[in-house]
Amino acid sequence: MPLPCDYHNHPQAHVLQPYTLDLLQPWIFRARQAGIRSLAFTDHDRYHEGVDFDVVDRLREQHPDVQILIGIELDNDPVTSERGARWVEQHWEKLDFVLGSVHYLPGAAEMFDRADQSGQLTDRYGLERAFDLYRAELQKILQRGLIDCFAHLDLIKIHHLYPEGYEPAAWFGPVLEMIQAAGLAIEASTAGWRKKVGEQYPHVAILELARAGSLPVTTASDAHAPAQLGADFDRLEQVLVQARVANLVRFARHKPMPEENAASGKMP
Ligand SMILES: [Zn+2]
Ligand SMILES: [Zn+2]
Repeated sequence: MPLPCDYHNHPQAHVLQPYTLDLLQPWIFRARQAGIRSLAFTDHDRYHEGVDFDVVDRLREQHPDVQILIGIELDNDPVTSERGARWVEQHWEKLDFVLGSVHYLPGAAEMFDRADQSGQLTDRYGLERAFDLYRAELQKILQRGLIDCFAHLDLIKIHHLYPEGYEPAAWFGPVLEMIQAAGLAIEASTAGWRKKVGEQYPHVAILELARAGSLPVTTASDAHAPAQLGADFDRLEQVLVQARVANLVRFARHKPMPEENAASGKMP
């Protein structure tokens, strides 16, 4: 059976587009085609003004066979994320699911994960320091709170550049311990296969550690168009089997539940 949940999707893509049924419906049609029975809309918090809870309620009424979560991807944008965090706080009860992400290294005006920004890692900070700073930013957003799940935990590898002697499990072990202590989840994402790194997020050794610590794991494509929904989920399933990840979860109202116990597709 294909993986049934995709919990990282951007209907607004990279520009403010207020939610309408016309904008969201293609995602539901694609979900049915792809065998996705539970999906989350998680637009970037800088576009929170486009999120419309009433439109999502209407969508749910029209498509009761697909579980539709309303979420957001709250990052560490030096300009917008403070306002984003306030919005999440104000709408926490209405939101099902909040992703936490690090897209910026300190002092940088551009996201490091853009295709043209590998120089931030190699020239501006140096790889070792960039990886260190990235991990410190993860800790900061953990301390800020207001999230349920970490997106693309080892995104810093996106340009396929690593410090000397880099060991994913050793590097991210302390972060996983903090995530576990905070009771949060991590996502297994196919988006890295579409980037230079050519590997899912996070590395299989990190997934193995997550399994050892019984961390809840969600599945995600980071789709920016309906056609990407559930992209490469067959391949992701093989990685999850390889890492023996047994704690796949779905969410509703910020609560994780084992996937198999929530197979009805209905909101609790
Ligand atoms: Zn992201
Ligand atoms: Zn995203």
